Amino acid sequence: MLEECIFCRIIAGKIPADVVYADDQVFAFKDINPAAPVHILLIPREHLATFNDFEPRHKELIGHIALVLKKIAADQGLAEKGYRVLVNCGPESGQVVYHLHYHLLGGRPLGALLP
Ligand code: AMP
Ligand code: ZN
Repeated sequence: MLEECIFCRIIAGKIPADVVYADDQVFAFKDINPAAPVHILLIPREHLATFNDFEPRHKELIGHIALVLKKIAADQGLAEKGYRVLVNCGPESGQVVYHLHYHLLGGRPLGALLP
């Protein structure tokens, strides 16, 4: 764990969070400033700063993340209605927290992402 990382501190239980899913590889909790009725952040337990830090050794983790996102979306009642999975990577994306995280958004029409 990275002592100064807010999401590592959430995993360690040092900062409270509304946890919706946890296993040996990943951790998911509600976003503190939700942009939609459902706004969940899914993070790997391993501290990776950004999407750029994925390496071939993470192949299994990457697949696991996809399956857990799908399960959480279904648990939240979004499977049929639809939802969005989004990752910000680096300054021009607007990434604020440098512990890789997947946003899971849904519960309202989300609008077009691309102009
Ligand atoms: P990003 O801009 O992709 O780095 O997104 C960071 C997200 O983390 C934002 O949506 C914040 O609302 C969220 N966030 C920051 N601190 C916390 C926290 N302590 N608990 C839950 N979500 C948080
Ligand atoms: Zn971290």
